[in-house]
Amino acid sequence: MARLSSIKPALGSLRPTIGRLPGREAYDADRRTLAWRGWYKLARWKRLRLVIFARDLFTCQMEGCGRIEGDTSRLVADHIRQHRGDERLFWDEGNLQTLCKPCHDGAKQRQERREA
Ligand SMILES: [Zn+2]
Repeated sequence: MARLSSIKPALGSLRPTIGRLPGREAYDADRRTLAWRGWYKLARWKRLRLVIFARDLFTCQMEGCGRIEGDTSRLVADHIRQHRGDERLFWDEGNLQTLCKPCHDGAKQRQERREA
């Protein structure tokens, strides 16, 4: 007898080209979140954030801050519009700005909570 329990988690790597079915929204959202969290670990992202820092001259773009930070571990490549797993927004240089850590962790997160 065939075993039905052997469906592989390879489904996770398929792009969501099929329309969403009702009731699967939460499941799909979880899966998308897992996918984009991994994007931050990619070499492509590590390169991109350095491109953004260099473009912004290692200067925090937060209004009223303008801190120049040479230590990139203290800078954040911040998505201006939350990408929420949208690949285009995630990789769009026009949607990225340099923030210093204090600005990112403070003002920006307050803003994101408000939008949420
Ligand atoms: Zn700042």
